[in-house]
Amino acid sequence: MQGTMMHMPLRIIEILDYAAQAHPGAEIVSVRTEGDIHRETYAQAYARAAQLAHALAGLGVKQGDRVATLAWNGYRHFELYYAVSGMGAICHTINPRLSAEQMLYIIEHAGDEVLCVDLTFVPIIEALADQLPKGLKLVALTDRAHMPDSALDWLCYEEMLAGQAQTFDWPQVSEDAAAGLCYTSGTTGHPKGALYSHRSTVLHALFLSISVPRSLHEGSHILPVVPMFHVNSWGLPYAAPLAGASLIMPGGKLDGPSIFDLMENEGVTAAWGVPTVWLGLRAEIEARDAMPSALDQLVIGGSAAPRPMIEFFEKRGVDVCHAWGMTEMSPVGTHGQLSKSMLDLPFEERMATKAKQGRRVFGVELKISDDNGRALPQDGKSVGELYVRGNTVISGYFNNEDATQAAFDPDGWFGTGDVASIDPQGFLYIQDRAKDLIKSGGEWISSLDLENIAIAHPKVANCAVIAVPHPKWDERPLLVVVPRDAGDPPTLEEIHAMLLEHMAKWQLPDAMEFVEDLPLTATGKVSKLTLRQWFAGYVLPDAG
Ligand code: AMP
Repeated sequence: MQGTMMHMPLRIIEILDYAAQAHPGAEIVSVRTEGDIHRETYAQAYARAAQLAHALAGLGVKQGDRVATLAWNGYRHFELYYAVSGMGAICHTINPRLSAEQMLYIIEHAGDEVLCVDLTFVPIIEALADQLPKGLKLVALTDRAHMPDSALDWLCYEEMLAGQAQTFDWPQVSEDAAAGLCYTSGTTGHPKGALYSHRSTVLHALFLSISVPRSLHEGSHILPVVPMFHVNSWGLPYAAPLAGASLIMPGGKLDGPSIFDLMENEGVTAAWGVPTVWLGLRAEIEARDAMPSALDQLVIGGSAAPRPMIEFFEKRGVDVCHAWGMTEMSPVGTHGQLSKSMLDLPFEERMATKAKQGRRVFGVELKISDDNGRALPQDGKSVGELYVRGNTVISGYFNNEDATQAAFDPDGWFGTGDVASIDPQGFLYIQDRAKDLIKSGGEWISSLDLENIAIAHPKVANCAVIAVPHPKWDERPLLVVVPRDAGDPPTLEEIHAMLLEHMAKWQLPDAMEFVEDLPLTATGKVSKLTLRQWFAGYVLPDAG
């Protein structure tokens, strides 16, 4: 027997329509590429999204077409998110940190019709101009006064909107229709596309807002440092308006001093981003010997949040919520918001829990499997490959049968490529990427564990561990360190002494090398692939 309830399609534009009515006081505050601060309410954004939809329709954009963006976090990018999906087209966010080759590949693969570009990224497009698909329409995200001096044919965003009607008859698209497209910057092979639907996006926003209410509530001022060009800024452009939170958009100014000032000036209560960003903020806090005064919560994910970083902020009164997810998961899969009973735990225990990646959000199921695909117990000890399923997880890659074939287990769960344990309280602990484990004499060594400990050494600014071949043990760990002071680098013995407090002797790195900077992927993670290339042919001291 069927329920007798109405069935309305879940549509992304409903979020902004709702926020415009229900949260009139909330704002989008943006640091603009033009150099100033811009403010608009959700009601104003909704009206401008309508104007933009009319303008795009005028350019010939139809339902199912792809409209690409190459832009920082800002109100115009936000308007594009809603106008494009609202009119039934697909918003394809492009990561400006991709290589030229990858960028051309995804523009071609996505079949983009229009490309909307922030002024900062105009030179990237100029350099690619000869190789861009014929007929791709280019829009500069600015007003007439700031239009780029360029040989290319740019449309002006503000001119496109001017004079258009401020309401739009948003079509009743199916909730399963595609709405957003984001390519993973996978470190091997071509990038793979995750094609989000209206339904998955709205559900993700709902799941997120009930999972992290300390950030997502009416009156909060959230700073998404995580970019809108990578996994929809972890869903914040959807979850914040839903919850009635204001969005404080940092544009391209992501250095410690700029972030600190923006937090202070705009009363930022919560900020979300990858660990690298918080290293910059941390240095600024130390330099000023002051905290951004309204800051209440940091959500850290994308890479493991190092425990010293968590402790630094917690000791200064900021709640740290460690989250994990993937592009393929919309992206948030787990969050570290502790339950009330856990808040009274002793500091050490709380920090140990927070160093884990948290519990699953509603709607995402987790399982860990052994090499034969058998599900392992969630006892905090068993370690296996992490699989996920749920309404916010991809069911396949966009137009990529080969990658799709390889990504799922026979029961239809998506393989994350992460190696993890799950404890009886449901806390996920990511031990490594499947390909990042070091296998020495048949036993696994976690490069993440080594890194997390070594990074706490006062002479270490940053570090990474890679496997290098060894004639006896197959592989051994090599520690690559960026010293805090190149004139006074740590010795391997000093690092070993520290590691020995937590690791077995056989797990210690055999050697240490110094570099000025670690190579990063387009999404700001350490590129182990590049690091392995740098050290290809490396011979360990005892391996000759
Ligand atoms: P991406 O699709 O670029 O967001 O990358 C997803 C991958 O980043 C995951 O599969 C993990 O390997 C890694 N990752 C994300 N969050 C965390 C975290 N909190 N701790 C450890 N690894 C993480």
